Amino acid sequence: TEQTLGRLAEESWERFGDYDAVYYEGVWHRRLALAERARRICGGFVAAGVRPGDRVAVMMATSPEVSIVYQALWAAGAVVTPIVFLVGVDELRHILTDSGAVAVVTSPELVETVRHAVPENVRIFLDAEELEREPEHGPVTVDPGDLAALMYTGGTTGRAKGVQLSHRGLWQTAKDAYTMSHQEGLNRAIVPVPLSHAYGLIISVAEMHATERQQAVLMRWFEPKAFLALAAEQRAQFGTVVPSMLQMLLAEPLEEHPLPDLAFLTCGAAPLGRETLAEFERRMPGTQILEGYGMTETSAVTTFNPPGRRRIGSVGLPLPGYAITIRDDSGEAVEPGDVGEICIRGESLMIGYWGGLDSPVVDGELRTGDIGCMDDDGYLYVVDRKKDLIIRGGFNVFPRDVEDALNRHPDVVLSGVVGRPDPQHGEEVVAFVQVRPGAEVSADTLITWARDRVGRVKYPREVHFVDTIPVTSVLKIDRKQLRTRL
Ligand code: ATP
Ligand code: MG
Repeated sequence: TEQTLGRLAEESWERFGDYDAVYYEGVWHRRLALAERARRICGGFVAAGVRPGDRVAVMMATSPEVSIVYQALWAAGAVVTPIVFLVGVDELRHILTDSGAVAVVTSPELVETVRHAVPENVRIFLDAEELEREPEHGPVTVDPGDLAALMYTGGTTGRAKGVQLSHRGLWQTAKDAYTMSHQEGLNRAIVPVPLSHAYGLIISVAEMHATERQQAVLMRWFEPKAFLALAAEQRAQFGTVVPSMLQMLLAEPLEEHPLPDLAFLTCGAAPLGRETLAEFERRMPGTQILEGYGMTETSAVTTFNPPGRRRIGSVGLPLPGYAITIRDDSGEAVEPGDVGEICIRGESLMIGYWGGLDSPVVDGELRTGDIGCMDDDGYLYVVDRKKDLIIRGGFNVFPRDVEDALNRHPDVVLSGVVGRPDPQHGEEVVAFVQVRPGAEVSADTLITWARDRVGRVKYPREVHFVDTIPVTSVLKIDRKQLRTRL
């Protein structure tokens, strides 16, 4: 039967009873104590005047409170607007104004930023504390098709867009994602990704679908040494990471920190280099990287590499609720193996953007703006974003290919490749490179290195050294900022 997230949470609490559910900063929190707090926080929101359909922003550092604030809001029929705690004041102000949020729930270390950005009349709640003083309140009745989340996109290519997601859509996607990734007996996850993010939101919903008791070991902030220590100490069996975390882990002496219990890490949200994956698995035997792909517009997850059936370099198979077609510029479906725009159909696509922005969903199909291809067996490969394509002298150059080649150089930490308008070739390929401290590699060496790997057309004609490659608040390479530097 169809569910709303408020009722789904209640059911899961009943099904699993009491147990150690969430580990955070030295303490295991019991499931039913968290459930009781969620019901009281729901009472707090209702007493504060939050009504069904109201948007409430949640910008909290990761803690056990984040999930129960989500659950409380869903029980109150309200719409969760998660905000990654790394966003700057301008982006925060944009999200708070655009969403029309009636309140913000935040953490002590973020409250100053929030105060600077918050429009008048918006209430600020510090953690869940003051909300928890009210008596328990059960889920109110809302429709499964109603909004459960107004989630903002990463803001990688422009201003963050508000994405309207329903209870039904989040429910379906989380269920499919859980079913595709779950392996019997593996139930203890380490979660270093921020919970105030699409990824974290879907984790909070997925645990409601679990067939076994789920345990989460939370990290307030990802730090590679702390991650290795915590995963070992708490014997995490799987985890959720983004590519930059794997890259940071590779800089550690992984051989000295074996994690025999850690069967797999799911990875997504940004491109993962094959070499990063291969090197990690070589140095951390027994742990598989399972890559997935998704976007805010598809409730965060669209494809995943199921354990035992993964393909390296691929982002996996579509979730059961999604169908993918690769289309050329005229909208025709291409043959397997051919490259085109990734288009997605399915029940859990967003209802549309918020605030009247044009929807990229046409006749029930989302045009993602991502370029990719599918093999004969339906595995998806992501090439790059359409907007970042460089056309040099009539040839297509995908920045990611060039970045991957540069990143393989031992002195390169990270690179970002963009196109510069060029009178002769239309566009010219330009690379920004961050090298290891003390490295003395020259621009010419890197240009030759890249040319040997990507060929005579695509190689960067210019290399600029930078202290740090700019990244967005969710740690994706900020190519739009690099373009402004040209
Ligand atoms: P904006 O839409 O505001 O520019 P964004 O697209 O980065 O930002 P998200 O919805 O958070 O916002 O991210 C989805 C995008 O992330 C996808 O469209 C895709 O470009 C990229 N992405 C996600 N997973 C992967 C992956 N496994 N490999 C490569 N790219 C990925
Ligand atoms: Mg996007």
